[in-house]
Amino acid sequence: HTFEDFKFNKQLLNAIAEAGYSTPTEIQKKAITPILAGQDIMGIAQTGTGKTAAFVLPLLMNLKYAQGNDARALILSPTRELAMQIEEDIQQFSTYLDLRTVVLYGGLGPKTQIENLEKGVDIIVATPGRFLDLYLEGHINVKSLKCLVMDEADKMMDMGFISKIHRILEVVPRKRQNLLFSATMSELVRKIAGDFLAFPTIIEV
Ligand code: AMP
Repeated sequence: HTFEDFKFNKQLLNAIAEAGYSTPTEIQKKAITPILAGQDIMGIAQTGTGKTAAFVLPLLMNLKYAQGNDARALILSPTRELAMQIEEDIQQFSTYLDLRTVVLYGGLGPKTQIENLEKGVDIIVATPGRFLDLYLEGHINVKSLKCLVMDEADKMMDMGFISKIHRILEVVPRKRQNLLFSATMSELVRKIAGDFLAFPTIIEV
């Protein structure tokens, strides 16, 4: 198994090679093809398994190039640190792709984040609170959203984000691809997965 086995273009394969990745990890082997095919996924995988690239790579491939002004993918992260890490991975893998990513998190003023949104965006990586604040203030249009990712769902639940997540689920388009990742499977994760995913492919590593 190599990355060339996936339906990735030359630009993405070059960036993967430059990142020093030669062999896909277990979660990448199992998740990439169904995500490319547009399926909903529930991935049970710890940090360190390569779960970030497992959803970032097919997501980039599905989006391909900049389009319009409004985000087509939203990645929700429980913490600012994880959001920054995901955004860094996206920047690295989209070196040769033409895609615009904006990261949104609290703890600092929203001015730069709002300016970045106004330039036009394909992918938003965000913590739930800051995403909702900027959405409710009218800085984000969700009508073009095609893919919603929830990373570290167990941590989201532990941190009490369930009502914010439900609020977000109420405003995004119904027809979309959903990807949920969690290190562990708890009752609350099972519940949010039920609210979030339609007939998911379940992948456990
Ligand atoms: P993650 O589980 O997404 O936090 O990734 C853990 C670490 O593994 C990160 O430093 C990634 O850059 C690295 N990594 C992910 N996938 C691969 C791969 N296929 N080959 C080598 N390193 C990888």
